[in-house]
Amino acid sequence: MSEYRPPIQEMRFLLDEIAGLPELSRLPAFAHAEPELVAAVLEQASKLASEVLAPLNQSGDREGSVLENGIVRTPKGFREAYGQFVAGGWSGAAADTENGGQGLPRVLATVLTEMWNAANMSFGLCPLLSQGAIEALERHASAEVKAKYLAPLVAGRWTGTMNLTEPQAGTDLGSIRTRAVREGDHYRITGQKIFITWGDHDVAENIVHLVLARTPDAPAGVKGISLFAVPKTRVGPDGALGSRNDLRCVSLEHKLGIHASPTAVMAYGDDGGAHGELVGEENRGLEYMFTMMNNERLGVGVQGVAIADRAYQQALAFAKTRLQGRELGGAGSGPVAILRHADVRRMLLGMKARTEAARALVYYSAGQADRARHGESEAARRRAQAFLDLLTPVAKAWASEIGIEVASEGIQVHGGMGYVEETGAAQYYRDARIAAIYEGTNGIQANDLVFRKLLRDRGQVFREFLIEMRALAAAMDRRVRAALDPAIAGLERAGDWLVRAREPGEAAAGSVPFLRSFGIVVGAVLLARCAQAAERRQHESEAAGKFAAAKAGSARFFLEVVLLEAQAQMSAVPAAGAAVLEMTEEMF
Ligand SMILES: Cc1cc2nc3c(=O)[nH]c(=O)nc-3n(C[C@H](O)[C@H](O)[C@H](O)COP(=O)(O)OP(=O)(O)OC[C@H]3O[C@@H](n4cnc5c(N)ncnc54)[C@H](O)[C@@H]3O)c2cc1C
Repeated sequence: MSEYRPPIQEMRFLLDEIAGLPELSRLPAFAHAEPELVAAVLEQASKLASEVLAPLNQSGDREGSVLENGIVRTPKGFREAYGQFVAGGWSGAAADTENGGQGLPRVLATVLTEMWNAANMSFGLCPLLSQGAIEALERHASAEVKAKYLAPLVAGRWTGTMNLTEPQAGTDLGSIRTRAVREGDHYRITGQKIFITWGDHDVAENIVHLVLARTPDAPAGVKGISLFAVPKTRVGPDGALGSRNDLRCVSLEHKLGIHASPTAVMAYGDDGGAHGELVGEENRGLEYMFTMMNNERLGVGVQGVAIADRAYQQALAFAKTRLQGRELGGAGSGPVAILRHADVRRMLLGMKARTEAARALVYYSAGQADRARHGESEAARRRAQAFLDLLTPVAKAWASEIGIEVASEGIQVHGGMGYVEETGAAQYYRDARIAAIYEGTNGIQANDLVFRKLLRDRGQVFREFLIEMRALAAAMDRRVRAALDPAIAGLERAGDWLVRAREPGEAAAGSVPFLRSFGIVVGAVLLARCAQAAERRQHESEAAGKFAAAKAGSARFFLEVVLLEAQAQMSAVPAAGAAVLEMTEEMF
């Protein structure tokens, strides 16, 4: 069974050099995030991830969560592991201190999310959803609703879920049918939700479902959706648990991966209606849910990085021990570890470089989330929010694709042993696949990037962001600039083409190649920035010297090999539109 060791040195380095944690900790909201605290948090989290969560990953996959006699049972050890998670106070890491949370910067919570998900993605989903539910309630719920639900969620005694999807309403949330009828100070909820992650389980005493539903007189479409907090077990005004609410898990899905994460079909209101409380105002539910969704989208990007890193660690360990063939041009006659073969090194370096670039992008984005909320001036907050909005679909989609790509390459490094389940490499690939689908498919992320983030302001924020990327590149040496400058210029041209596209269909067809090239180019700038910072700090210690050398190697591979893929994707932006629009339906 494979081990997982969080790459703490790399995480710490990125927090300082890419997410700007030292600068964030000078803001009043994060004054407590001092280097000693950060070090202690990372060390404790690393222990939990590697010693408690990682050993349950493969057994959890084999056993899966099951529904028996109306009760969902998670695999052996999950309940106890969740108990340790709660005892460590991890649930409320990023929650506001006034609600009992630790108020840690989002960037630090992002590192924790990476550790939980790399160790055990099925487990990691549970706190990821709770964290999103906490943020949605913190921002939008009334004082009464907050008083009832926030403290136990922050403490981890209860968990949170998001209930959007219905059989006829997947991507198209405007067609949601679940009903909410007002009855005094609460609402009666009836309807069916599908694919609800951690929709039912046995690890915590209660579950707070955040449910999208329509009131009877609501306008059609997305403008008529409201958000409700619907607990599994009803909660009295004093916070005490009461009777079971009118909701149940009807079945669990059988899935390609994340077997230990219970994906539930939920029935609300079989006996007249589940008791739910309105969050915020009626008909503004989707807007509120976007707080949760944007949180989760960044979280799904982190999952991509997490699973990529786990797959890389596993593949590297295998490549060091698997003996096969002789070294090309080598002197010895005996078999060598496959790590000595150039093509295996190419695969491993590609995995490493892609993972590091994706990590840099998601940590950078998380830094923008902190500045957007707590930045020192209104202008700084607005600018960070604009960058975060632009980057969120890229972080979600590009990093989740990296997760799949790297996990697939990890199988290749193993040869046949990758395809059988024994080593665990296959599980990473199966688990990684969902990240491109949930929280809005990657196609929808690309549409969001192009239509909402690029076209709405005719590329203004996009160009401002590129100024920032150009400023980073300008401080690098000539060889690096020679790779980055044309790539940034090409990305800008692709964006301009989309802004000027004649038909929405053209822009839509070019959106995925655009998002991919965006991810690669920004990933290249940030990884080059890492290499530059690592070189600057190489004399700090022997470990820093080794780190700088390895970082230079992965940045070089990314700039000289991976970045070439961006060129192809940029060329595909206009080409895809033209080709797609010429196809009639019968031609398929
Ligand atoms: C394991 C798992 C866990 C999940 N967890 C949750 C959860 O906790 N809560 C929750 O509410 N949901 C959850 N989901 C649902 C998930 O978010 C949806 O599956 C996803 O948003 C896609 O919806 P769909 O499956 O209906 O696909 P569809 O919407 O039917 O899409 C099918 C294909 O068509 C494309 N498409 C659809 N509409 C458009 C469009 N307008 N433009 C371009 N392309 C389009 C999509 O990109 C996709 O490729 C989960 C799903 C799974 C499988």
